[in-house]
Amino acid sequence: MSITTLSVRIGEPDIECRYPVIIGADRVIGLAFRWHRNWNALLSDGTEKDLGRPATGQKGIDMAVAWLTEEYAAGRIGAIALDMVRAEAPQPLDGEVPLLHPRMAGTEGKPASLRNIQGAKTALAGLAEHHWKPVLHGFPGSDNPWFLECLLCGWSGVRYWSHLRGRNGEPPRIYRHDGGCIGEDKIRELIPAYQA
Ligand SMILES: [Zn+2]
Repeated sequence: MSITTLSVRIGEPDIECRYPVIIGADRVIGLAFRWHRNWNALLSDGTEKDLGRPATGQKGIDMAVAWLTEEYAAGRIGAIALDMVRAEAPQPLDGEVPLLHPRMAGTEGKPASLRNIQGAKTALAGLAEHHWKPVLHGFPGSDNPWFLECLLCGWSGVRYWSHLRGRNGEPPRIYRHDGGCIGEDKIRELIPAYQA
């Protein structure tokens, strides 16, 4: 089958913001995701490829799609069924998460950096103060997606610590997420940082 006869599309992201790149009806040739400033592809054999940063004006996801399509057409990477990808997608946890996201927790016997540990402690304290709870993994860094539960209303979804930590001594924006949460008056009542 020629690659030119197959359409490529981007599927719905999982709760870690990884986008399945789908060829034909339902074959996934990779999961594309951003980590810090680089885009990466998780391949069907479980390995990862760091694709670097997109060119100016190019979207990272488009760069990843182009790379995956070319590799697949050349026979260098395989594909797996979308159903299998969905079945293995990460799910929220019931209990406590570790301090750090696995990608921040040190690699190949090297421990996590003190900077990451300190950053995680600061972030978790800030989340607790604002009634957020991580329900997928530990601190992923300030600008990587973090799947959180809103403890005020039960909403869950992806947030970024860089948006939740506030700036210049000011608390974060009182707007928490779509759907209105419990309303700004009640939020103000419950969180001392908004009462100053
Ligand atoms: Zn809420």
